[in-house]
Amino acid sequence: MSSSRFDRSHTDDLMSFVAESPTAYHAVASAAKRLEAAGFTQVREDEAWDAQPGGRYLISSGTIIAWYVPEQAGPATGFRIMGAHTDSPALQVKPIPDTGASGWRQIAVEVYGGVPRDTWLDRDLGVSGRLVTRDGQVHLVSHGEPLLRVPRLAIHLDREVNNGQVLDPQNHLTPVWGLGEPDEGEFIAYLAGTAGIAAEDVAGWDLVLHDVQPPAYLGRDRELLACPRLDNLVSVHAGVAALIAAAESGAEHIPVLAAFDHEECGSESATGAGGPLLGTTLRRILSAKGAQFDEIARAMAGSVVMSSDTGHAIHPNYVDRHEPGHHPIAGGGPILKINVNQRYATDGVGRAEFARACERADVPWQTYVNRNSLPCGSTIGPITAARLGIVTIDIGIAILSMHSSRELCGADDPHYLASALAAFAST
Ligand code: ZN
Repeated sequence: MSSSRFDRSHTDDLMSFVAESPTAYHAVASAAKRLEAAGFTQVREDEAWDAQPGGRYLISSGTIIAWYVPEQAGPATGFRIMGAHTDSPALQVKPIPDTGASGWRQIAVEVYGGVPRDTWLDRDLGVSGRLVTRDGQVHLVSHGEPLLRVPRLAIHLDREVNNGQVLDPQNHLTPVWGLGEPDEGEFIAYLAGTAGIAAEDVAGWDLVLHDVQPPAYLGRDRELLACPRLDNLVSVHAGVAALIAAAESGAEHIPVLAAFDHEECGSESATGAGGPLLGTTLRRILSAKGAQFDEIARAMAGSVVMSSDTGHAIHPNYVDRHEPGHHPIAGGGPILKINVNQRYATDGVGRAEFARACERADVPWQTYVNRNSLPCGSTIGPITAARLGIVTIDIGIAILSMHSSRELCGADDPHYLASALAAFAST
């Protein structure tokens, strides 16, 4: 018998969402597909927006912002904003990919974000992303079949490997994908061929390597989920479900989902949380209702951001790395993240808001605080707070193996998270 409180349909759908979303570009397309099915329609940044009630979303490269304008919304109606990020640490293809040595054909890669390098060794890797043709058209490509591998050095040739392995990102992470001499242009030509595009039309690309092993439940009661890119597709997926639920619930505020690219490299980009996209979008939603400066300022003052990202569950083999009085566990419900030095934006007011949301959703929750002797990670919450001046709460779910090419969480936590977010966004 499973100890789960839920049927697993939410987590089953998360597994499909992650498998469909090997890159940030695919994640926004997967989110858009679910929003379209719920009646949301796409708007473009370079077109005028109307004031009609209903669900809308915009896509800007690897970032998606979606919102639902309720019937009674006016020019000073505040927002309930859910934040997340679409990107994950990975190996990405360099501008001149074709390389090789000693009879092996290889692909030159660059390291994106905080990659624990050993987790990319000896895995069957696919490659996905986007090809841009000379006419400016963007074509999503997804090669989910095994294509590449970063081979580990045999233990016989590295007797010290178990005493601390050093992997140089330039020399030791270059994947192989065949035998023979490299041929300039062949990798992009191959991918163009799989997408039905003439190789000579391809003028640009953004390509990401990814483990092709699908997500899987683990454990006797299937109470664990092994899954790539939980950080942070679990929050993007939960945010989409919560936004759709809020749209159906007749919310008083305007519920918004903002899922940004480029969190893993610091968020400072045109489409990252440090850019102007969210602030501009919020002002435009109100401007379409005829809002003036004063009404926009009042709406912002009445708004709240709940930013969701993964956090660290206590690791049974490394208990001494965790704060002894705060022990978030997998399966224990969403976590509230607190750091007094504003690596997380949560304060006492935000804590109470989160507690109310979890109470309304009838889900358990936990608190995370870093051990004083270790530097604390961060997320988009504090960046959004500083940029918009809106009360911000950092939350998430507790996982193990964060940033590994395959992470681990409790199988019920994605549903708990979506329920808490829906309760927040429905106010
Ligand atoms: Zn993250």
